[in-house]
Amino acid sequence: MANYVAAIDQGTTSTRCMVFDHSGAVVAVDQREHEQIFPRAGWVEHDPEEIWRNTRQVCAGALANGDLVASDIAAVGITNQRETTVVWDRRTGRPVYNAIVWQDTRTDRIIEELGRLGGGQERYRERTGLPLATYFSGPKIRWILDNVEGARARAEAGDLLFGNMDTWVLWHLTGGPDGGLHVTDPTNASRTLMMDLESLSWNEEIAGELGVPLSMLPEIRSSSEEYGRISQRGALNGLPIAGILGDQQAATFGQACLSPGEAKNTYGTGNFVLLNTGTDKVMSQNGLLTTVCYKLGERDTVYALEGSIAVTGSLVQWLRDNLGLIGSAPEVERLASTVPDSGGAYFVPAFSGLFAPYWRSDARGAIVGLTRFVNKGHLARAVLEATAFQTREVIDAMNADSGVALKSLKVDGGMVVNELLMQFQADILGVPVIRPKVNETTALGAAYAAGLAVGFWDSEDDIRRNWIQDTQWDPSLAEQTREARYREWKKAVTRTFDWAGG
Ligand code: ADP
Repeated sequence: MANYVAAIDQGTTSTRCMVFDHSGAVVAVDQREHEQIFPRAGWVEHDPEEIWRNTRQVCAGALANGDLVASDIAAVGITNQRETTVVWDRRTGRPVYNAIVWQDTRTDRIIEELGRLGGGQERYRERTGLPLATYFSGPKIRWILDNVEGARARAEAGDLLFGNMDTWVLWHLTGGPDGGLHVTDPTNASRTLMMDLESLSWNEEIAGELGVPLSMLPEIRSSSEEYGRISQRGALNGLPIAGILGDQQAATFGQACLSPGEAKNTYGTGNFVLLNTGTDKVMSQNGLLTTVCYKLGERDTVYALEGSIAVTGSLVQWLRDNLGLIGSAPEVERLASTVPDSGGAYFVPAFSGLFAPYWRSDARGAIVGLTRFVNKGHLARAVLEATAFQTREVIDAMNADSGVALKSLKVDGGMVVNELLMQFQADILGVPVIRPKVNETTALGAAYAAGLAVGFWDSEDDIRRNWIQDTQWDPSLAEQTREARYREWKKAVTRTFDWAGG
């Protein structure tokens, strides 16, 4: 009897396989980090072959850790870091270049050129829901075809395939060069700048402007259906793959934000606030993205408004790896607790330019407000506060776009174990912050999508029932102080503009 569902979570820093039971509790997990490759300032790459190796290992590892076999699992879901772009040869499976990661800004010139065709940053907004920005996949594919010798000719001959990490992993799991499925779902496709948000199909005109041959693009299926079975010899052989959701949409699903007006914020490498807007595509007037939230089989598409923040948890890593101020990410809380506030310092981590709500690829990071008084405790605190302030900015934008003020915020992700950050988040938002019992909402959301498709779960009511609150943080800062601090943050942000030519 299959009592469990598995999810493969191919994230920015690591790949995990997690196994869940019917109540949504984690019964087994395995995880492996992969190398972050920084060849130049602004460039971020991953090795797709390393990621595929890790995927196989963690699938086997999770089953072994839970003392499980494939027949214990009803279905497998996939969730993934979105936008990160792989181009590979359909006959050999060899990538023609490293994966270009979502944070990478090398396409800034391509973005500028496209904007000059007319419409500037808004050129594709109506069709795709997105501003022109280095973040998305389409321009990254263009860069590979322009810069890897022979790639364009091979692409035009139909020899090359594009995929985000969902597609890369799925293609391999289902046979690779021997009939592997070249498929994605609308949540991933909606981040390429090439998918029409209404019809959920590739927009030929935009792909043409980007110089991306349609033959490279995966078939867009729904987020919850049986795509095929795993045929790669290994732990999960023979199991149906039945769900695909981009990581942030998966977290939204796993947080049971299943009705219009419900929102979550995930604190990982970056932060991503998603607000379910139901079957309405709300076009943002305030710097947010319009994106697909999920599409379950044949049912209507559900959309979301999204506030994407490029750098939050990765700033903590930077403090650890580039400055050596802490030995591990959790130590940031202890260091920040040595002082009562940031001593007037503000750290704006515009390492990849600024995403929502600014979308400025010309911005670069800054620490402002420094005096001789500021010490490493203050800096640690400024690092954590940056996450909370950036979140406040996208929540303000969301409230303005939707016309309704958010009453509380559901949170998840690697940073939400940080109590100091969570309290400050509630303080600076002025609304309660709520963490659920199962913090692994990304993998859980992908498991739900797969489990719904095969009848392991009956309906979204099961998901709602499984969601249980763990901790709530209530705001405790006086409104005047809160708004004064926020004004200072906004001023600090302006200091990062016009730095890199853009
Ligand atoms: P992703 O899914 O993007 O790979 P995770 O959700 O696993 O990320 O979160 C990892 C991030 O959380 C890292 O960037 C790390 O710096 C940060 N992090 C982990 N623990 C803490 C902590 N106790 N306080 C602050 N940040 C943390």
